[in-house]
Amino acid sequence: MVLPKYDLHCHTTASDGMLSPVELVARAADQGVEVLAITDHDSVAALHQASAAAKAANMRLLPGVELTACWGSRVVHLVGLGFDPAAPSLQRYLEGLTELRRDRAQRIAKKLIGRKLPDLLPAVLELAGDGQVGRPHFAMALVAAGVCETEQQAFKNYLGTGKVGDVQMAWPAMSVALDLLHGIGGVGILAHPTKYRLTFTRLRSLLTDFIAAGGDGVEVSYSGIKPEHQRELQKIARKMDLMVSAGSDFHQPGKPWVELGRFQPPDTECRHVLSSLL
Ligand code: AMP
Ligand code: ZN
Ligand code: FE
Ligand code: FE
Repeated sequence: MVLPKYDLHCHTTASDGMLSPVELVARAADQGVEVLAITDHDSVAALHQASAAAKAANMRLLPGVELTACWGSRVVHLVGLGFDPAAPSLQRYLEGLTELRRDRAQRIAKKLIGRKLPDLLPAVLELAGDGQVGRPHFAMALVAAGVCETEQQAFKNYLGTGKVGDVQMAWPAMSVALDLLHGIGGVGILAHPTKYRLTFTRLRSLLTDFIAAGGDGVEVSYSGIKPEHQRELQKIARKMDLMVSAGSDFHQPGKPWVELGRFQPPDTECRHVLSSLL
């Protein structure tokens, strides 16, 4: 099967992306994307907002989401695709995550106040607007307040793994997230496996648990992945009989190396998730 030009991982203002759903669809169309899944963090709000624009652009929009979940004490991201976006169980599940994210934002703000920084919560909530609030909004607020020069630096000093703003939350377990996705007719994909700072040995152990929990596939191509890691992931996917998926993880314009529809094509010997969705 010859696949159309696609992107199965990107973000809008419904979470921490900079473009509205309509703007994102327009940009994707400019890039020649024919099949798009918007995968906001713990939100499917963009789907409804983007659907008319996608239709007008003759673009196929697949239901998508990037669910925050935990694997033991670690946070992992699961891309859900092809589910029923109107399912009440999904709405309830996402409401729970909205609560967790609001709760986390309050806790991060308090932690930063403890470091003698100003209260960033009002600015952060303003930046998040109607969308899911996340650490990137804190990064922006830290830059706007003049505390950090760049958002990258905000993560390095305050928000990244092990830093003061990295507060532990009781995210749903990976298996719970996968059960939800399967219950509403979708598939669950492990997002950007090389971004969890795991050795490949630990990553194999994550994938073994992921498969035991019913996981369907793994992203093997996305912005920032090294070619040798992509090859290794594809080898593992074939061995473990996982489908492969790919997406830019686009958040904002201005980063030419992170563009919608732009990533190395996955190996054609692997089972592609799109073949099961189109
Ligand atoms: P959250 O789901 O609110 O914890 O935020 C996760 C998002 O933060 C990711 O999708 C990235 O966009 C961003 N992010 C995480 N770590 C970093 C980092 N070290 N530098 C820049 N952005 C990051
Ligand atoms: Zn993000
Ligand atoms: Fe992610
Ligand atoms: Fe993402």
